[in-house]
Amino acid sequence: METNDIREQIKKMVELQAVENEAQQLRSVLDSVEVRLEALDQELKASQLTFDKDSEQTESLKKAYRDLESDTQANLSNIAKCNEKLRAVKTNKEYQSMLKEIDEFTKKNSTTEDLMLEYLEKLDTADLELKEKKQDLAAFEREIEEKKRDISEDASVKESRYTELTDSMETINSEIHADLRKQLDYVKEIVGITALSPVIDAVCQGCHMNIPPQLFNELQRFDKLFFCPNCHRIIYWKED
Ligand SMILES: [Zn+2]
Repeated sequence: METNDIREQIKKMVELQAVENEAQQLRSVLDSVEVRLEALDQELKASQLTFDKDSEQTESLKKAYRDLESDTQANLSNIAKCNEKLRAVKTNKEYQSMLKEIDEFTKKNSTTEDLMLEYLEKLDTADLELKEKKQDLAAFEREIEEKKRDISEDASVKESRYTELTDSMETINSEIHADLRKQLDYVKEIVGITALSPVIDAVCQGCHMNIPPQLFNELQRFDKLFFCPNCHRIIYWKED
């Protein structure tokens, strides 16, 4: 193998490493897409549940108001009945007792009406608040949809970049000699994707250790592959 050749081969391997690094970063982002979308859905669901609860509370307030309303109606019709009976009473005692009954119904209605006024005020506030909450929820829904759309759009860009990278990985791989390829794969098994490391000023950039002067001299000749004695990465000389 010519000197120039090994230099070229190392260049290819460095290129491959960069591509693999980028691909791996993209992959981890892409792998998290489903989880991120799901988390946004959950966030929205939680807000919808809170709104539903608020909505139910307002509904039960309305129902309580309607109940009071029908109580009043019932009382009014009781008073009307009493007034009718009043015309038919024979004795003073009956008359007095009927008046007392009417008085009780009237008092009861007055209390109920006070309560209704109170409820009405609460209802007004609740209705207004609910209206605002509904708008907030709709805005939040739009925000979530937008975030989801951004994630999906970004993912599709990254996905096609990832495909590009896989293609170029294949191409570069095919351009690396089989025996070097074997050594590269072996080192990768030990240290991971970043199997190559430049040596600048006699310092391995992978482990930041100094390499022996003899090795540093040999390194600059680019006539074969060298390995860092400390971290076992494939090392190559790089001018600082
Ligand atoms: Zn090293």
